[in-house]
Amino acid sequence: MIQPVAGFSKRSKEEKIRWIAENYTAHPEQTEAVLRQYWHSDAQLQQLHDEFIENTISNFYLPLGVAPNFLINGKLYAIPMAIEESSVVAAASKAAKYWMERGGFHARVLGIEKIGQVHFTYSGEAETLQAFMEYLRPILLQDAAPITGNMEKRGGGILGLELRDKTADLPGYYQLHCRFDTRDAMGANFINSCLEQFSTTLLREAAAYEGFKGEEKPVEVLMSILSNYTPECVVRAEVRCPASDLEPEAGLSGEAVAERLVQAVEIANCEPFRAVTHNKGIMNGIDAVVIATGNDFRAVEAGVHAYAARDGRYRSLTGASLTDGEFCFWIEVPLALGTVGGLTSLHPLVRLGLEILGQPSARELMEVVAVAGLAQNFAAIRSLVTVGIQRGHMKMHLLNILNQMGATPAEKEAMVEYFKTHTVTHNEVVTQLKALRRQP
Ligand code: NAD
Repeated sequence: MIQPVAGFSKRSKEEKIRWIAENYTAHPEQTEAVLRQYWHSDAQLQQLHDEFIENTISNFYLPLGVAPNFLINGKLYAIPMAIEESSVVAAASKAAKYWMERGGFHARVLGIEKIGQVHFTYSGEAETLQAFMEYLRPILLQDAAPITGNMEKRGGGILGLELRDKTADLPGYYQLHCRFDTRDAMGANFINSCLEQFSTTLLREAAAYEGFKGEEKPVEVLMSILSNYTPECVVRAEVRCPASDLEPEAGLSGEAVAERLVQAVEIANCEPFRAVTHNKGIMNGIDAVVIATGNDFRAVEAGVHAYAARDGRYRSLTGASLTDGEFCFWIEVPLALGTVGGLTSLHPLVRLGLEILGQPSARELMEVVAVAGLAQNFAAIRSLVTVGIQRGHMKMHLLNILNQMGATPAEKEAMVEYFKTHTVTHNEVVTQLKALRRQP
């Protein structure tokens, strides 16, 4: 029986691997070999990765691809994408080229405000708390000045502090709701540092405030933390062209394709079962760039899906219209991204990814990421409403199936050639590979 382990994080990497391999795997030596084969031969580089997290035992590789030909606001980008799903980079590249030939993508940041909150309880009169807040505001800003000084020099900092009465939702619950501009940083640490200072100041000043009649603890702070819901840190990207310029497909004219695209978005707007999959496809593009640029994809995912449900119903993140013969397709997403801080200057591939993107500001990166999401969605629904999704997907998945079956390079080449003119299904690949192997 496996025993709990004490002081695991203090053990050496070799000891951790041995313990995991012996306690949790059937073939410990094989386990060690698998883990070691993913160690980097450059010990310094490996140590860098070891130190990103606790208890590192190896590296987990994702393919890093690049999708070229993205014309965004008149500038041509090659977008780095880190993702395991076979069709994503191919679809992005295809959509990029398609729209490059039709004027490219246009993107603009609608807002950059981020939110953080000090959550606290108070059981006295609401008016007294309101008066205290007016007294407190300049002191909060003054106490936070050592933290905010550099950010202010960059043009950012604290944008506003507001007392919010949440007692209708939860008895005694109030918030210090704070708005920030964190410039090129995602800002989690800057915001959390400000909030913890606010909390200290709030408690100190409340204990001394005369209006609270000498109560020892008039307020209790529960927690201070940024919010990953950023509905005011939003970017919009769009493409547009005459519907007749859309490529005719599957026997449909450009106009008919445009009509079907609009319908597909309308369905995602009113039907959550479809909307979730529709938005998942958008996140294929968004997450891949977010990861390749060292950003926090969990933060982005959480914020984006909350935004998709902002009116109480989960809806499409993209919109589409066909007006007077012009087709327009757009996306609006909240993206709290950084091009400094976090992993951005630490991970060599992230540094390279940002270099390939031309060392963008956070705003420019928001535009690029939104475009990646829009392109992905365009590629997906265009296939869905014309030839169907499986044709392209299975073509890309073919190599995965062949690799699962241990196909040799020569077998792969023959199979790829064969399936250029045949429909890929798992069964058909197995049948054809077996037939090929039976040939003398
Ligand atoms: P960070 O702590 O590395 O701080 C970035 C620093 O860069 C700032 O403190 C600033 O001094 C400096 N800087 C230099 N040039 C700048 C410029 N032009 N604009 C802005 N700042 C500039 O990074 P961060 O952005 O505070 O935090 C991001 C990290 O926090 C991510 O790794 C994320 O995963 C993690 N995190 C996230 C959450 C969450 O999302 N809930 C919570 C905690 C931590």
